[in-house]
Amino acid sequence: MKRHKLIRTVVSVVVFLISLSSAQAELRVGVTMVKITPPTGTPMAGYYYARGSQEVLDDLFAKAAVLDDGTTKAALVVCDIISLPRSIVQDARQLIEQQTGIPGGHVMISATHTHTGPTLPRDSARDNQDGGSSNPAQTYARELPQRIAQAVAEANGKLQAVTVSYACEHEDRLAFCRRFWMKDGTVGWNPGKRNPNVIRPVSPIDPEVGVVYCETTDKKPLLTYVNYALHTDTTGGTKISADYPGALARRLAEYKGPDMVTIFANGACGNLNHLNVNWGQPQTSPAEANRLGTILAGAVLKAYMDLQPVRDTALRVRSQVLRLPLAKITPEDLQEAKAIVEKKDKATFMEQVRAFKVLDVDRRAGTPLEVEVQVITMGETLAWVSLPGEIFVELGLSIKAASPFAQTHIAELANGSVGYIPNRSAYPEGNYEVVSARCGEGAGEMLVQAAVKMLEELKAQTTLRK
Ligand SMILES: [Zn+2]
Repeated sequence: MKRHKLIRTVVSVVVFLISLSSAQAELRVGVTMVKITPPTGTPMAGYYYARGSQEVLDDLFAKAAVLDDGTTKAALVVCDIISLPRSIVQDARQLIEQQTGIPGGHVMISATHTHTGPTLPRDSARDNQDGGSSNPAQTYARELPQRIAQAVAEANGKLQAVTVSYACEHEDRLAFCRRFWMKDGTVGWNPGKRNPNVIRPVSPIDPEVGVVYCETTDKKPLLTYVNYALHTDTTGGTKISADYPGALARRLAEYKGPDMVTIFANGACGNLNHLNVNWGQPQTSPAEANRLGTILAGAVLKAYMDLQPVRDTALRVRSQVLRLPLAKITPEDLQEAKAIVEKKDKATFMEQVRAFKVLDVDRRAGTPLEVEVQVITMGETLAWVSLPGEIFVELGLSIKAASPFAQTHIAELANGSVGYIPNRSAYPEGNYEVVSARCGEGAGEMLVQAAVKMLEELKAQTTLRK
Protein backbone atom coordinates (compact mmCIF):
# COMPACT_ATOMS: atom_id res chain seq x y z
CA MET A 1 0.00 0.00 0.00
CA LYS A 2 2.72 2.38 0.99
CA ARG A 3 4.53 1.63 -2.24
CA HIS A 4 1.40 2.27 -4.29
CA LYS A 5 0.94 5.60 -2.65
CA LEU A 6 4.53 6.53 -3.39
CA ILE A 7 4.14 5.55 -7.06
CA ARG A 8 0.91 7.52 -7.30
CA THR A 9 2.61 10.57 -5.82
CA VAL A 10 5.58 10.26 -8.17
CA VAL A 11 3.26 9.87 -11.16
CA SER A 12 1.19 12.91 -10.23
CA VAL A 13 4.30 15.01 -9.69
CA VAL A 14 5.62 13.98 -13.10
CA VAL A 15 2.27 14.75 -14.74
CA PHE A 16 2.22 18.12 -13.00
CA LEU A 17 5.75 18.92 -14.21
CA ILE A 18 4.92 17.90 -17.79
CA SER A 19 1.79 20.05 -17.74
CA LEU A 20 3.87 22.96 -16.46
CA SER A 21 6.40 22.72 -19.27
CA SER A 22 3.79 22.23 -21.99
CA ALA A 23 1.45 24.89 -20.65
CA GLN A 24 3.17 27.22 -23.03
CA ALA A 25 1.35 30.41 -22.22
CA GLU A 26 -0.28 31.57 -25.40
CA LEU A 27 0.97 34.98 -26.49
CA ARG A 28 -1.58 37.56 -27.44
CA VAL A 29 -0.68 40.69 -29.36
CA GLY A 30 -2.67 43.76 -30.36
CA VAL A 31 -1.42 46.47 -32.71
CA THR A 32 -2.60 49.85 -33.85
CA MET A 33 -1.52 53.17 -35.29
CA VAL A 34 -2.87 56.58 -34.31
CA LYS A 35 -2.29 59.58 -36.55
CA ILE A 36 -0.19 62.32 -34.93
CA THR A 37 0.33 64.60 -37.95
CA PRO A 38 0.57 68.19 -36.66
CA PRO A 39 -1.53 71.01 -38.12
CA THR A 40 0.05 73.01 -40.97
CA GLY A 41 2.25 75.81 -39.69
CA THR A 42 3.56 73.88 -36.69
CA PRO A 43 7.32 74.54 -36.34
CA MET A 44 9.39 71.65 -37.65
CA ALA A 45 12.19 69.89 -35.83
CA GLY A 46 15.76 68.98 -36.42
CA TYR A 47 17.55 72.19 -37.33
CA TYR A 48 18.84 75.21 -35.47
CA TYR A 49 16.23 77.53 -36.96
CA ALA A 50 12.41 77.70 -37.06
CA ARG A 51 10.58 76.51 -40.15
CA GLY A 52 6.81 76.12 -40.21
CA SER A 53 5.41 73.02 -41.93
CA GLN A 54 3.81 73.86 -45.31
CA GLU A 55 1.92 70.68 -46.12
CA VAL A 56 1.84 66.95 -45.49
CA LEU A 57 3.85 64.58 -47.64
CA ASP A 58 2.88 61.55 -45.56
CA ASP A 59 1.24 61.22 -42.15
CA LEU A 60 2.99 60.73 -38.82
CA PHE A 61 1.85 57.99 -36.45
CA ALA A 62 2.16 56.72 -32.91
CA LYS A 63 2.31 52.96 -33.44
CA ALA A 64 1.79 50.51 -30.60
CA ALA A 65 2.09 46.78 -30.04
CA VAL A 66 0.75 45.38 -26.77
CA LEU A 67 2.15 41.97 -25.79
CA ASP A 68 0.40 39.71 -23.28
CA ASP A 69 1.73 36.31 -22.18
CA GLY A 70 -1.20 35.66 -19.83
CA THR A 71 0.52 36.98 -16.72
CA THR A 72 2.58 39.94 -17.92
CA LYS A 73 1.75 42.71 -20.34
CA ALA A 74 4.20 45.02 -22.06
CA ALA A 75 3.90 47.58 -24.84
CA LEU A 76 6.26 48.79 -27.54
CA VAL A 77 5.36 52.23 -28.86
CA VAL A 78 7.19 54.19 -31.54
CA CYS A 79 6.28 57.72 -32.61
CA ASP A 80 7.20 59.52 -35.84
CA ILE A 81 8.76 62.33 -33.80
CA ILE A 82 12.31 63.69 -33.59
CA SER A 83 12.64 62.98 -29.87
CA LEU A 84 10.35 62.59 -26.86
CA PRO A 85 10.94 64.63 -23.71
CA ARG A 86 10.76 62.54 -20.53
CA SER A 87 7.70 64.48 -19.32
CA ILE A 88 5.67 63.34 -22.35
CA VAL A 89 6.68 59.71 -21.70
CA GLN A 90 5.70 60.01 -18.04
CA ASP A 91 2.33 61.63 -18.84
CA ALA A 92 1.62 58.98 -21.48
CA ARG A 93 2.54 56.14 -19.12
CA GLN A 94 0.24 57.52 -16.43
CA LEU A 95 -2.68 57.68 -18.87
CA ILE A 96 -1.88 54.16 -20.13
CA GLU A 97 -1.90 52.81 -16.60
CA GLN A 98 -5.29 54.45 -15.92
CA GLN A 99 -6.84 53.34 -19.19
CA THR A 100 -5.47 49.79 -19.56
CA GLY A 101 -3.94 48.70 -16.27
CA ILE A 102 -0.64 48.04 -18.05
CA PRO A 103 2.07 49.28 -15.65
CA GLY A 104 3.69 52.44 -17.02
CA GLY A 105 7.10 50.89 -16.44
CA HIS A 106 6.19 48.10 -18.88
CA VAL A 107 5.74 50.55 -21.75
CA MET A 108 8.69 51.44 -23.99
CA ILE A 109 8.04 54.66 -25.89
CA SER A 110 10.59 55.72 -28.48
CA ALA A 111 10.95 58.19 -31.34
CA THR A 112 12.00 57.44 -34.92
CA HIS A 113 13.93 60.76 -35.03
CA THR A 114 12.21 62.05 -38.16
CA HIS A 115 13.44 65.60 -38.85
CA THR A 116 10.31 66.42 -40.88
CA GLY A 117 7.99 66.31 -37.88
CA PRO A 118 7.04 68.86 -35.22
CA THR A 119 9.44 70.47 -32.77
CA LEU A 120 8.53 69.76 -29.17
CA PRO A 121 9.39 72.01 -26.23
CA ARG A 122 12.20 70.24 -24.38
CA ASP A 123 13.06 72.67 -21.63
CA SER A 124 16.17 73.77 -23.52
CA ALA A 125 17.74 77.16 -24.21
CA ARG A 126 17.20 76.14 -27.85
CA ASP A 127 13.37 76.17 -27.59
CA ASN A 128 13.11 79.87 -28.45
CA GLN A 129 15.34 79.41 -31.49
CA ASP A 130 13.58 76.60 -33.35
CA GLY A 131 9.98 77.16 -32.32
CA GLY A 132 9.91 74.64 -29.45
CA SER A 133 8.41 77.26 -27.14
CA SER A 134 5.81 78.49 -29.67
CA ASN A 135 2.07 78.02 -29.08
CA PRO A 136 1.52 75.33 -31.75
CA ALA A 137 4.47 73.31 -30.39
CA GLN A 138 3.20 73.60 -26.81
CA THR A 139 -0.32 72.59 -27.81
CA TYR A 140 0.97 69.63 -29.80
CA ALA A 141 3.16 68.47 -26.92
CA ARG A 142 0.24 68.74 -24.49
CA GLU A 143 -1.92 66.48 -26.65
CA LEU A 144 0.71 63.92 -27.62
CA PRO A 145 0.54 61.82 -24.39
CA GLN A 146 -3.20 61.33 -25.03
CA ARG A 147 -2.51 60.13 -28.59
CA ILE A 148 0.15 57.70 -27.33
CA ALA A 149 -2.17 56.39 -24.61
CA GLN A 150 -4.97 56.07 -27.18
CA ALA A 151 -2.68 53.92 -29.37
CA VAL A 152 -1.83 51.59 -26.46
CA ALA A 153 -5.48 51.40 -25.29
CA GLU A 154 -6.66 50.53 -28.81
CA ALA A 155 -3.94 47.90 -29.23
CA ASN A 156 -4.84 46.49 -25.82
CA GLY A 157 -8.46 46.23 -26.92
CA LYS A 158 -7.46 44.18 -29.95
CA LEU A 159 -5.35 41.47 -28.28
CA GLN A 160 -5.49 38.17 -30.11
CA ALA A 161 -3.54 34.92 -30.13
CA VAL A 162 -0.48 35.05 -32.39
CA THR A 163 2.60 33.16 -33.40
CA VAL A 164 5.82 35.12 -33.07
CA SER A 165 8.94 34.59 -35.13
CA TYR A 166 12.17 36.48 -35.61
CA ALA A 167 15.09 36.86 -37.99
CA CYS A 168 18.05 39.11 -38.59
CA GLU A 169 19.27 40.45 -41.94
CA HIS A 170 22.50 42.24 -42.79
CA GLU A 171 22.35 45.60 -44.61
CA ASP A 172 25.59 47.56 -44.88
CA ARG A 173 24.86 49.93 -47.80
CA LEU A 174 22.39 52.22 -46.03
CA ALA A 175 24.11 53.66 -42.97
CA PHE A 176 27.49 55.40 -42.82
CA CYS A 177 29.51 56.80 -39.98
CA ARG A 178 29.40 60.59 -40.33
CA ARG A 179 32.63 61.24 -38.38
CA PHE A 180 35.89 60.86 -40.30
CA TRP A 181 39.58 60.94 -39.62
CA MET A 182 40.90 63.78 -41.77
CA LYS A 183 44.36 64.22 -43.23
CA ASP A 184 45.15 67.04 -40.76
CA GLY A 185 44.65 64.63 -37.84
CA THR A 186 41.29 66.04 -36.74
CA VAL A 187 37.90 64.34 -36.76
CA GLY A 188 35.61 65.82 -39.38
CA TRP A 189 31.80 65.75 -39.20
CA ASN A 190 29.76 65.38 -42.41
CA PRO A 191 32.84 66.51 -44.38
CA GLY A 192 30.97 66.63 -47.69
CA LYS A 193 30.86 64.45 -50.77
CA ARG A 194 34.16 63.39 -52.30
CA ASN A 195 36.18 65.48 -49.86
CA PRO A 196 39.83 64.69 -50.75
CA ASN A 197 40.93 65.23 -47.12
CA VAL A 198 38.93 62.31 -45.76
CA ILE A 199 41.00 59.30 -44.68
CA ARG A 200 38.39 56.93 -43.25
CA PRO A 201 35.31 56.79 -41.02
CA VAL A 202 36.00 56.80 -37.26
CA SER A 203 33.34 54.23 -36.35
CA PRO A 204 31.76 51.11 -37.77
CA ILE A 205 28.03 50.91 -38.48
CA ASP A 206 25.55 48.39 -37.09
CA PRO A 207 24.40 46.45 -40.17
CA GLU A 208 21.85 44.29 -38.28
CA VAL A 209 18.23 44.53 -39.38
CA GLY A 210 16.34 42.92 -36.50
CA VAL A 211 12.89 41.65 -37.46
CA VAL A 212 10.11 40.32 -35.25
CA TYR A 213 6.99 39.10 -37.02
CA CYS A 214 3.57 38.23 -35.60
CA GLU A 215 0.68 36.62 -37.40
CA THR A 216 -2.73 35.55 -36.16
CA THR A 217 -3.53 31.88 -35.64
CA ASP A 218 -5.30 31.95 -39.03
CA LYS A 219 -2.07 33.27 -40.59
CA LYS A 220 -3.05 36.89 -41.10
CA PRO A 221 -0.06 39.29 -40.94
CA LEU A 222 -0.40 41.45 -37.83
CA LEU A 223 2.94 43.07 -37.04
CA THR A 224 6.44 43.47 -38.42
CA TYR A 225 8.78 45.12 -35.93
CA VAL A 226 11.98 46.39 -37.54
CA ASN A 227 15.09 47.66 -35.77
CA TYR A 228 17.95 49.35 -37.65
CA ALA A 229 20.40 52.13 -36.76
CA LEU A 230 20.23 55.10 -39.13
CA HIS A 231 19.63 58.82 -38.57
CA THR A 232 16.24 59.90 -39.94
CA ASP A 233 17.05 63.09 -41.83
CA THR A 234 16.71 62.30 -45.50
CA THR A 235 13.48 63.95 -46.71
CA GLY A 236 14.41 67.59 -46.00
CA GLY A 237 12.20 70.57 -46.86
CA THR A 238 9.11 71.84 -45.11
CA LYS A 239 6.60 69.08 -45.74
CA ILE A 240 5.64 66.77 -42.90
CA SER A 241 6.93 63.21 -43.46
CA ALA A 242 7.82 60.11 -41.48
CA ASP A 243 10.97 59.90 -43.66
CA TYR A 244 12.37 56.48 -44.63
CA PRO A 245 10.53 54.52 -41.87
CA GLY A 246 7.29 55.68 -43.55
CA ALA A 247 8.53 54.36 -46.90
CA LEU A 248 9.55 51.08 -45.22
CA ALA A 249 6.00 50.64 -43.88
CA ARG A 250 4.48 51.37 -47.32
CA ARG A 251 6.74 48.83 -49.05
CA LEU A 252 6.00 46.08 -46.50
CA ALA A 253 2.27 46.79 -46.72
CA GLU A 254 2.49 46.19 -50.47
CA TYR A 255 3.64 42.65 -49.70
CA LYS A 256 1.81 41.80 -46.46
CA GLY A 257 -1.34 43.86 -46.97
CA PRO A 258 -2.60 47.11 -45.46
CA ASP A 259 -3.79 45.54 -42.19
CA MET A 260 -0.29 44.70 -41.00
CA VAL A 261 1.38 47.37 -38.86
CA THR A 262 5.09 48.00 -39.38
CA ILE A 263 6.78 49.41 -36.30
CA PHE A 264 10.26 50.77 -36.91
CA ALA A 265 12.46 51.51 -33.91
CA ASN A 266 15.71 53.35 -34.54
CA GLY A 267 18.88 51.79 -33.15
CA ALA A 268 22.05 53.40 -31.79
CA CYS A 269 22.69 55.84 -34.66
CA GLY A 270 23.94 59.02 -32.94
CA ASN A 271 27.01 59.11 -35.22
CA LEU A 272 25.49 57.42 -38.29
CA ASN A 273 23.60 58.85 -41.24
CA HIS A 274 22.72 57.94 -44.81
CA LEU A 275 25.27 60.15 -46.59
CA ASN A 276 27.70 58.16 -48.69
CA VAL A 277 30.65 60.55 -49.14
CA ASN A 278 31.97 58.40 -52.00
CA TRP A 279 28.78 58.92 -54.03
CA GLY A 280 28.32 62.24 -55.80
CA GLN A 281 24.50 62.15 -55.90
CA PRO A 282 22.49 64.59 -53.74
CA GLN A 283 20.88 62.62 -50.92
CA THR A 284 18.19 64.86 -49.45
CA SER A 285 14.71 64.49 -50.95
CA PRO A 286 11.48 62.54 -50.54
CA ALA A 287 12.78 60.29 -53.34
CA GLU A 288 15.90 59.54 -51.28
CA ALA A 289 13.74 58.62 -48.28
CA ASN A 290 11.82 56.25 -50.55
CA ARG A 291 15.08 54.76 -51.84
CA LEU A 292 16.32 54.09 -48.30
CA GLY A 293 12.97 52.74 -47.11
CA THR A 294 12.84 50.43 -50.12
CA ILE A 295 16.34 49.04 -49.50
CA LEU A 296 15.50 48.48 -45.83
CA ALA A 297 12.24 46.81 -46.88
CA GLY A 298 14.32 44.57 -49.15
CA ALA A 299 16.30 43.39 -46.14
CA VAL A 300 13.07 42.67 -44.24
CA LEU A 301 11.58 40.84 -47.24
CA LYS A 302 14.71 38.65 -47.21
CA ALA A 303 14.42 38.15 -43.44
CA TYR A 304 10.88 36.76 -43.91
CA MET A 305 12.54 33.69 -45.48
CA ASP A 306 14.58 33.00 -42.33
CA LEU A 307 11.95 33.49 -39.64
CA GLN A 308 12.42 31.21 -36.63
CA PRO A 309 9.54 30.61 -34.21
CA VAL A 310 9.79 31.97 -30.67
CA ARG A 311 8.63 29.04 -28.52
CA ASP A 312 8.96 30.45 -25.01
CA THR A 313 7.04 33.71 -25.10
CA ALA A 314 7.19 34.57 -21.39
CA LEU A 315 7.61 38.33 -20.96
CA ARG A 316 9.91 39.96 -18.44
CA VAL A 317 10.47 43.65 -17.83
CA ARG A 318 13.07 45.49 -15.84
CA SER A 319 14.32 49.04 -15.73
CA GLN A 320 16.81 51.16 -13.90
CA VAL A 321 17.13 54.90 -13.36
CA LEU A 322 20.68 56.21 -13.74
CA ARG A 323 22.23 59.54 -12.91
CA LEU A 324 24.54 60.52 -15.74
CA PRO A 325 27.37 63.01 -15.24
CA LEU A 326 27.00 66.41 -16.90
CA ALA A 327 29.40 67.67 -19.55
CA LYS A 328 32.11 69.84 -18.00
CA ILE A 329 31.70 73.59 -18.51
CA THR A 330 33.70 76.57 -17.21
CA PRO A 331 32.63 80.11 -16.25
CA GLU A 332 34.38 81.28 -19.45
CA ASP A 333 32.23 78.86 -21.49
CA LEU A 334 29.14 80.43 -19.93
CA GLN A 335 30.25 84.01 -20.75
CA GLU A 336 30.99 82.97 -24.31
CA ALA A 337 27.63 81.16 -24.65
CA LYS A 338 25.71 84.26 -23.55
CA ALA A 339 27.60 86.38 -26.10
CA ILE A 340 26.87 83.88 -28.87
CA VAL A 341 23.13 83.84 -28.14
CA GLU A 342 23.20 87.69 -28.38
CA LYS A 343 24.65 87.37 -31.90
CA LYS A 344 21.53 85.40 -32.94
CA ASP A 345 21.75 84.25 -36.59
CA LYS A 346 25.18 85.87 -37.00
CA ALA A 347 26.61 83.07 -34.87
CA THR A 348 27.99 80.06 -36.71
CA PHE A 349 26.30 76.67 -36.48
CA MET A 350 28.95 75.18 -34.18
CA GLU A 351 28.94 78.30 -31.97
CA GLN A 352 25.19 77.83 -31.50
CA VAL A 353 25.54 74.12 -30.79
CA ARG A 354 28.13 74.85 -28.11
CA ALA A 355 26.23 77.81 -26.62
CA PHE A 356 22.92 75.96 -26.17
CA LYS A 357 24.74 72.99 -24.63
CA VAL A 358 26.56 75.24 -22.14
CA LEU A 359 23.36 77.10 -21.20
CA ASP A 360 21.43 73.85 -20.71
CA VAL A 361 24.20 72.30 -18.59
CA ASP A 362 24.55 75.50 -16.53
CA ARG A 363 20.80 75.55 -15.89
CA ARG A 364 21.08 72.16 -14.12
CA ALA A 365 23.40 73.66 -11.49
CA GLY A 366 25.31 70.41 -11.14
CA THR A 367 22.27 68.09 -10.95
CA PRO A 368 23.07 64.90 -12.88
CA LEU A 369 20.85 63.87 -15.79
CA GLU A 370 18.28 61.36 -14.59
CA VAL A 371 17.60 58.75 -17.26
CA GLU A 372 16.00 55.34 -17.58
CA VAL A 373 17.31 52.18 -19.19
CA GLN A 374 14.60 49.57 -19.71
CA VAL A 375 14.81 45.96 -20.85
CA ILE A 376 11.89 43.85 -22.08
CA THR A 377 12.56 40.19 -22.92
CA MET A 378 10.58 37.34 -24.44
CA GLY A 379 11.60 33.87 -23.30
CA GLU A 380 15.28 33.34 -23.81
CA THR A 381 15.16 34.55 -27.38
CA LEU A 382 14.25 38.21 -27.79
CA ALA A 383 15.28 41.36 -25.98
CA TRP A 384 14.42 45.04 -26.40
CA VAL A 385 16.65 47.64 -24.74
CA SER A 386 15.67 51.31 -24.43
CA LEU A 387 18.33 54.01 -24.35
CA PRO A 388 17.59 57.67 -23.50
CA GLY A 389 19.16 59.75 -26.28
CA GLU A 390 21.05 59.76 -29.54
CA ILE A 391 23.43 56.92 -28.87
CA PHE A 392 26.78 56.37 -30.56
CA VAL A 393 26.79 53.10 -32.48
CA GLU A 394 29.71 51.67 -30.50
CA LEU A 395 27.53 51.63 -27.37
CA GLY A 396 24.71 49.78 -29.12
CA LEU A 397 27.16 47.27 -30.57
CA SER A 398 28.62 46.65 -27.09
CA ILE A 399 25.19 45.84 -25.68
CA LYS A 400 24.38 43.50 -28.57
CA ALA A 401 27.76 41.75 -28.28
CA ALA A 402 27.28 41.11 -24.55
CA SER A 403 23.57 40.26 -24.67
CA PRO A 404 22.82 36.62 -23.81
CA PHE A 405 19.62 36.72 -25.91
CA ALA A 406 19.44 35.31 -29.44
CA GLN A 407 18.30 38.65 -30.88
CA THR A 408 18.59 42.00 -29.13
CA HIS A 409 16.94 45.21 -30.32
CA ILE A 410 18.05 48.67 -29.27
CA ALA A 411 15.52 51.50 -29.28
CA GLU A 412 17.27 54.84 -28.91
CA LEU A 413 15.50 58.11 -28.04
CA ALA A 414 13.33 55.94 -25.81
CA ASN A 415 11.55 56.86 -22.58
CA GLY A 416 13.00 60.37 -22.79
CA SER A 417 16.13 61.92 -24.27
CA VAL A 418 19.14 63.84 -23.02
CA GLY A 419 20.46 64.45 -26.55
CA TYR A 420 23.67 62.99 -27.91
CA ILE A 421 25.41 60.27 -25.89
CA PRO A 422 28.88 59.60 -27.36
CA ASN A 423 31.14 56.76 -26.34
CA ARG A 424 34.13 57.64 -24.18
CA SER A 425 36.72 57.66 -26.96
CA ALA A 426 34.76 60.25 -28.96
CA TYR A 427 35.14 62.99 -26.33
CA PRO A 428 38.77 63.91 -27.02
CA GLU A 429 38.01 63.78 -30.76
CA GLY A 430 35.45 66.57 -30.37
CA ASN A 431 33.18 67.90 -33.14
CA TYR A 432 29.41 68.19 -33.45
CA GLU A 433 27.87 65.40 -31.37
CA VAL A 434 30.45 65.76 -28.59
CA VAL A 435 30.13 69.57 -28.57
CA SER A 436 26.36 69.14 -28.36
CA ALA A 437 26.35 66.40 -25.67
CA ARG A 438 24.87 67.49 -22.33
CA CYS A 439 26.26 64.37 -20.65
CA GLY A 440 29.90 63.90 -19.75
CA GLU A 441 32.49 61.28 -20.58
CA GLY A 442 31.57 57.79 -19.38
CA ALA A 443 27.79 58.39 -19.45
CA GLY A 444 27.36 56.12 -22.47
CA GLU A 445 29.34 53.30 -20.88
CA MET A 446 27.11 53.55 -17.76
CA LEU A 447 24.09 52.86 -19.97
CA VAL A 448 25.82 49.83 -21.52
CA GLN A 449 26.73 48.43 -18.12
CA ALA A 450 23.19 48.85 -16.79
CA ALA A 451 21.62 47.31 -19.91
CA VAL A 452 23.94 44.29 -19.95
CA LYS A 453 23.43 43.64 -16.23
CA MET A 454 19.64 43.63 -16.64
CA LEU A 455 19.85 41.42 -19.74
CA GLU A 456 21.94 38.90 -17.80
CA GLU A 457 19.58 38.97 -14.82
CA LEU A 458 16.54 38.40 -17.01
CA LYS A 459 18.32 35.61 -18.89
CA ALA A 460 19.16 33.93 -15.58
CA GLN A 461 15.43 33.91 -14.76
CA THR A 462 14.67 31.97 -17.93
CA THR A 463 17.17 29.25 -17.04
CA LEU A 464 15.97 29.09 -13.42
CA ARG A 465 12.47 28.32 -14.65
CA LYS A 466 13.62 25.16 -16.47
ZN1 LIG B 1 20.07 63.69 -34.63
